[in-house]
Amino acid sequence: MTSISVAGKTVDTWEKEIPQLEDLLSLKEIFWINEAKIPFEEASSLVPYTKDDVNDAEERLNRFAAYLRIDFPETEVANGIIESPLSSIPFMKEYLETVYHSSIPGTFLLKRDDTLPIAGTIKARGAIYEVLKHAENLALEHGLITSYADDYAVFASESFKSFFSNYKIAVGTTGNLGISVGTVGAKLGFDVTVHMSVEAKQWKKDLLRFRGVTVIEHESDFTNAVEKGRQQSNLDPMSYYVDDEHSIELFLGYTVAANRLQKQLTQENIIVDETHPLFVYLPCGIGGSPGGITFGLKQIYGDNVHCFFAEPTHVPSMTVGLMTQKYNEVSVKDFGLDGLTVADGLAVPRTSKLVASIMKHFFSGSYTIDDFETNRLLSALIDKEKIFLEPAALAGVPGALRLFQTEEGKSYLEKHHLMDKMEQATHIAWATGGSMVPKEDMDQFYESGLLSPLTEKI
Ligand SMILES: *Cc1c(COP(=O)(O)O)cnc(C)c1O
Repeated sequence: MTSISVAGKTVDTWEKEIPQLEDLLSLKEIFWINEAKIPFEEASSLVPYTKDDVNDAEERLNRFAAYLRIDFPETEVANGIIESPLSSIPFMKEYLETVYHSSIPGTFLLKRDDTLPIAGTIKARGAIYEVLKHAENLALEHGLITSYADDYAVFASESFKSFFSNYKIAVGTTGNLGISVGTVGAKLGFDVTVHMSVEAKQWKKDLLRFRGVTVIEHESDFTNAVEKGRQQSNLDPMSYYVDDEHSIELFLGYTVAANRLQKQLTQENIIVDETHPLFVYLPCGIGGSPGGITFGLKQIYGDNVHCFFAEPTHVPSMTVGLMTQKYNEVSVKDFGLDGLTVADGLAVPRTSKLVASIMKHFFSGSYTIDDFETNRLLSALIDKEKIFLEPAALAGVPGALRLFQTEEGKSYLEKHHLMDKMEQATHIAWATGGSMVPKEDMDQFYESGLLSPLTEKI
């Protein structure tokens, strides 16, 4: 095994060069600090995107609110804006402090993207944005609308649906991206095809077929399903491919979350500045959602926000990509990991080059979480707060504890002179999905959590 060559070096050599890689490859839970992170101003000068791009995406979603409230009446209460609450979870906080024998100083909050309307996962942010932008482009090109100032309620009309039925949209997915793209795409009238990887749950396929989407099942992992979908779509000039590996539109859709979060924090009188740091813990699959949200938050809070991403011990694709600085050139499978996890939304063996290269100077670091811990946290959150998350969505929950309890975490706090500011800090665990999971599946997750052994921490 160890003599296998990955990106020109044996695994042995890689492990000698990067000491934490050995722990990572033996499936230990690790906390990793990204040494490539640099001050915000400097990092910004290295990427071609700015706050203007975030605001442009936000304005597009605002224009489409008039459409969304008609075709998706569940968005009516928020005037057509797809957003989720920011909640305090005091009983869960107490549970975490007890089980991990540690306290979490400062404010501890959960961002409830599990309750996002239309699709019930964080994908609703990026994917719906990309589909809407594509629809807007087609409508402008063909004169169905003439300017951004038009009333976008017309997108709900029969004539628009009949126009879009001439066009196709395709996507490759572990499931959740397909649900977001498929639901909105089909509602607008597009002919949508979703390529599913092996991880995709049966209920996700059934739901999409019920919503009028064509589902193609592949007996292969995510990377492969994406590739197959892309090849097929590229053969057809009428087909638009939502590309999880390369799409800047998806990324920009996710960034808008930051502007919305800023409003919520202000409403709650939560300050973020040099003496009040903000820590955000984001579950990471291919990297688009944690990357986009981090990028957006950095535009607002600069060096006062610290973003960590969380990955399953069996699929640490972004961590491996950044540690080795080979990004998308290495898959966790090249290093002998099986890529299997209960957190199906994070089962992505190879990270996105686009996201990794934009984000490498912004992310603070990452940590891994094993499936037992994920399961236990899932049941605990149900017991303590009656909040039902899907497994992937739990990954951010232990982040604050890891920061305080690991040597790497503590050294990060010291290096950035944060130790004496922790009483005024805010920690946000980003809950990325859950409300769509059928009851039987959720019952099973809950049972697994009760049966999961309490592994020795740190
Ligand atoms: C996709 C997904 C993520 C991670 O998003 P990426 O863009 O793949 O990094 C996290 N949680 C859930 C529930 C997801 O579906």
